[in-house]
Amino acid sequence: MKVICVFNQKGGVGKTTTNINLCSYLANKGYKILTIDIDPQGNTTSGLGLDKKNISTSVYDVIASDKSIEEAIIKIELIENLYIIPSTVELAGAEVELISKENREIILKDKLEKIKDDFDYVFIDCPPSLGFLTINALTASDSVIIPIQCEFYALEGVGQLVNTLQLVKKSLNDSLEIEGIVMSMFDSRTKLSNEVVDEVKKYFNDKVYKTTIPRNVRLAEAPSFGLPIILYDDKCRGAEAYEKLTVEFLERQ
Ligand code: ATP
Ligand code: MG
Repeated sequence: MKVICVFNQKGGVGKTTTNINLCSYLANKGYKILTIDIDPQGNTTSGLGLDKKNISTSVYDVIASDKSIEEAIIKIELIENLYIIPSTVELAGAEVELISKENREIILKDKLEKIKDDFDYVFIDCPPSLGFLTINALTASDSVIIPIQCEFYALEGVGQLVNTLQLVKKSLNDSLEIEGIVMSMFDSRTKLSNEVVDEVKKYFNDKVYKTTIPRNVRLAEAPSFGLPIILYDDKCRGAEAYEKLTVEFLERQ
């Protein structure tokens, strides 16, 4: 079982969209996938069709109580092979509640031990911050996928992001690697998008996936129907890009 976290402390760069769609295409190809929504916003949870009001056991219970991780796993009925540990807003309080707990950075890692033979991949969708939840995710992961939005300020914050990864590597998880960089909301018609990709390649070299994700309104609409793009509109450009990204992801394994 490989654990991958989708991480960038910058908000709105395409973490959740990448997480939902990569997980869905991998599940569709027959891999058994668990996604953990560790973001109090719960966008992966609602984007996969779950009603946050009806969740009895969430990732909050897994992190903040003695509940076992198995209890919190829910099967996504719409897609074979896809499972989720959902998030609820309670998670926002976990940071403060657990401030004095010993070894609080490794809670998720320890809990994942129990299911290490149950899935092919676990994908963790991180919040846009560098707090305790993100540190738990990075500590529990084998690698990170970093979505970067093709915009003028794309590289702002990348230095801090890399510092964080190095810090976690040094103190909590020495085997943490960069899985790949996803360039999101790419617009091939603009010089800017192409320039941003070139800049990011200077920084991360061949870690940058060749597949770029275009700006595509269908990708933005799908979550409001609680559907991944493969079920909402599998012929649109966004769907084609995420399927291609999934193939490229698998080629690197
Ligand atoms: P946060 O940091 O708040 O968790 P995020 O990094 O998870 O954000 P997303 O939620 O995936 O980012 O995307 C931000 C917004 O942009 C959402 O409304 C999403 O639907 C939209 N979006 C994401 N990718 C695309 C795309 N390729 N084309 C068009 N819209 C997109
Ligand atoms: Mg998100």
